[in-house]
Amino acid sequence: MKKEIKTLMKHAEDFGFTHSGELNLDSLVFMPEVRQMCNSDLCKSYNKNWMCPPAIGTLENAALRVKNYNFGMIVQTTALMEDEFDYDTIHNTEIKHKNNFMKLVDNLKSKYSDILPMSAGTCSICNECSYPDEPCRFPNKAIGSMESYGLWVSKVCELSNIPYYYGKNTLTFTSCYLLNLHNIDILDKIT
Ligand code: SF4
Repeated sequence: MKKEIKTLMKHAEDFGFTHSGELNLDSLVFMPEVRQMCNSDLCKSYNKNWMCPPAIGTLENAALRVKNYNFGMIVQTTALMEDEFDYDTIHNTEIKHKNNFMKLVDNLKSKYSDILPMSAGTCSICNECSYPDEPCRFPNKAIGSMESYGLWVSKVCELSNIPYYYGKNTLTFTSCYLLNLHNIDILDKIT
């Protein structure tokens, strides 16, 4: 891994993530199977948010969109639960991950003209999404999850040589950022 990219990963960990790594762009395969899981509404967000299916758009559009980017970074927040019913840790870890994710989004946006963040979980910028009655209140800030775009997150991690599971009683939230680095000197950008 290039020194500059290592520095970018270190930058991510400075924002509080427990792990980060370069995303293998070839792992960005948008799968109908993931869409079917969204359709089954296990997370109760299907057809309830502008950044979830069906409003977020087709798998084909997602595939076209990621072609604009030449670099990806995965970030993760891992916590150790007392047991599988440790809802406090689950809740607190999700909040910590989302907060750190949004802070890094703002930081990267201040340095890169075009980034595509994909979070863990549905867009929760507003307490209640305006979907479907009104347009999205913050179209430039709204963020879809990796799953909502149709990505199988554990596969993306596996193909990027980044663990998805860190052992018994661990919990990990995974998100990613796509950037277009062109010939930008990353070190100049992040220091
Ligand atoms: S920014 Fe608000 S209105 Fe837009 S998708 Fe997110 S929650 Fe919904």
